[in-house]
Order: sequence, then C-alpha cells, then structure tokens
Amino acid sequence: MFPPAPLDPEALERAARLLADAHSVVAFTGAGMSVESGIPDFRSDDGLWRRFPPEHYATIEVFHQNPDRVWTLLRAMGELVKHAVPNDGHRALAAMEAEGMLKAVITQNIDGLHTKAGSQQVLELHGTWRGLHCSLCFHVDPGGEALPDHTPICPRCGGPMKPPIVLFNEDLPQVVVTRAWSLAAEADLMLVIGTSLAVWPASDLPDVAAGNGAALVEVNDRPGALRYRQAVELGGAVAHVLPRLLERARSFRQP
Ligand code: NAD
Repeated sequence: MFPPAPLDPEALERAARLLADAHSVVAFTGAGMSVESGIPDFRSDDGLWRRFPPEHYATIEVFHQNPDRVWTLLRAMGELVKHAVPNDGHRALAAMEAEGMLKAVITQNIDGLHTKAGSQQVLELHGTWRGLHCSLCFHVDPGGEALPDHTPICPRCGGPMKPPIVLFNEDLPQVVVTRAWSLAAEADLMLVIGTSLAVWPASDLPDVAAGNGAALVEVNDRPGALRYRQAVELGGAVAHVLPRLLERARSFRQP
C-alpha cells in the first residue's frame, strides 16, 4: 500500500478558488469520510470486508436465505456507528452549507454523521441506520438504541427485519436517487470525498457531474479514483483537508 499523499498547497489554492467561485456545489462522500470518526472503510486492511466478505454477508439474497448471518455484520457495523461522532471534515461540510458554499451532501454512508454534524441537505443513497424495516411487508419499526441479539422479527408478518440500509443487489431509494442525480447534473463543482468509486451506481455520479460541465475536486488520503485529468486532487485525510479548504475558500470570498 502507498503511504498517504501529502496536501499540495497549489492544489489547495486551485480547489479553494473553484469552491469560492462556483454557484452550485455538491459533495459526494464515501466511507473515507468517517474513518477518523472511528468507522473503518471497507477496503482498507482493517476494513470490515476482511472479516465479512460482502458476497457472504452483505447481499439481499443472503439476507433472504440466512438473515442471522447478515446480522453478524450488521451488529459489528452497528456497534461502530453507535459510538461514532462527526469529525472536523463533517463539520467543515456543514459549515460550507451554512455559509452558502455548498448545496447538498450526497453520501454513500449509512452512519448519519453528516446530519449529526449539522448538514441540512443530506441525500443518503444507501439508506441510514435508523429503525428497522421488514424485508417482506415493509412494516417500519422506529426501533430503539439497543442492537438486537437475534434477527428481529416483524410483528405484522413474521418476516426478518433489518435497518433501512441498502445491501448489495438491493434497490436504492428512488426518490433519493432522482434528487441526487439531478443535483449532480446541475452542479458546476463536485467535491468527491473519501470514496474509491467501486460501488455502482453511486460511482456514476462524478461522471454525471463532469459530463454536464462540472469541475471535480477529489479529497482522499490516496487520491486517484477519478479518471478526469483536469480533476484537482487534494491528498490527505478529510479532517485535515476539508477545514483548510473551507478556510481558504472563505478568504477568497471576502470582499
Ligand atoms: P471504500 O472503502 O471503497 O473507499 C474509501 C476511500 O476513502 C478509499 O479511497 C480510501 O483511500 C479513502 N480514505 C480512507 N480514509 C480516509 C481519510 N481519513 N481521509 C480521506 N480519504 C480516506 O468506500 P466507498 O467508496 O464509500 O464504498 C464502500 C461502500 O460501503 C459504500 O457504499 C458505503 O455505503 C459502505 N460503507 C459505509 C460506511 C459508513 O457508513 N461509514 C463505512 C464502510 C462502508
């Protein structure tokens, strides 16, 4: 594995100028956004995929055949999510929105940390860890804080329940997808943050933005997921890079 990339001051200047001058900015975030909040991403050496290969633990087909097995992953993930708090990167995005620099955050994360940090416009493409849904009759149970020891059973139809997070091969929430795709198409700048762009269809969003003329800025401790030569790469950890990007963009916006 390559060492994390350092933050290049020239790239920071270019990205901050783009952010200060753009009119319609969206952030698109992935698991790297929450690593400094204590939730490992999926592909790193200590990531959850090592313990729980997705094809055996994280598809909707496995959930229908063997919900208990999927719940071993959900419990491990739930423990991490329960204790996580937003980091300075989440807070910087919330501040960008509050100051009129950012329209919305589109996230692949299910941890709810953007909302906890104060972001108002958050589109959770893969759902969020809030309550329980029946996979058969779609009954919703607001649920409590405690993680169940066994697969929770729907009080209405007896089907297995899970949090409303999207497993592999499961449909994304259509209303969220429609809004996210139109925000990406209207954007003149997309900040692509902490994602390896390995999960489809979310991975298409930077293409939608760039295809409609948006500039792209990638924030990643190991940048290089974007294939656009003109994309600005900001190497470094989100909690370090995003507050600096915000600070520099503010200085460009001052009269
Ligand atoms: P990924 O694990 O494939 O990639 C994470 C990316 O973030 C990598 O490119 C890595 O280099 C980078 N990264 C790691 N730590 C970073 C840091 N501190 N600062 C900047 N960059 C950092 O994640 P993905 O692309 O989001 O795809 C994984 C899928 O798994 C997503 O669909 C997501 O729903 C789910 N997931 C969610 C969470 C969460 O909710 N927090 C956690 C793990 C996985």
